[in-house]
Amino acid sequence: LTSVNSLPANTVAVIEDDRSLREMLTSILTAHGYHVTAHADGEAAMRDEHTIGSDVAIIDIGLPGIDGLEVCRRLRANGRTAPVMMLTARHEVQDRVLGLDAGADDYLVKPFALDELLARVRALHRRHGTAASAVDTQLELDDLTIDPGTRVATRGENPLDLTRIEFDLLHLL
Ligand code: CA
Repeated sequence: LTSVNSLPANTVAVIEDDRSLREMLTSILTAHGYHVTAHADGEAAMRDEHTIGSDVAIIDIGLPGIDGLEVCRRLRANGRTAPVMMLTARHEVQDRVLGLDAGADDYLVKPFALDELLARVRALHRRHGTAASAVDTQLELDDLTIDPGTRVATRGENPLDLTRIEFDLLHLL
């Protein structure tokens, strides 16, 4: 899905080596209107300009190679001011404090509820003043366009006649 609105979608960078968690975060955030770039390690993430420019970065502490705390430090050193949220395993309690020292704004202990993650991401967006509403962002997939603001979906030039539930399902997909 790509944004076709003049306002860019809210962007989230996900750095998580656990593939299933990375894919789940990507799909849930995408379904909620965010533009997501995901990487499995810090070095790949830092080579991607989308990582440093993202509105919110979600970084797992336990990464192969450069750990998440160091990734956070380096992003800050490279001028990133936008929010960073660390993901931490329950046994890495000490790392929570370290995460904040490294320049993180928030942390979430695994396992977490997706609702909790989404609430934190929204809060970080608000705090940073990048609340350009994700729900007003038009989405486009092939010839299908979905506008959550007006709740109109079109295929090519033709509006689709959808019930509310059908629209929500389509939007989620
Ligand atoms: Ca990990």
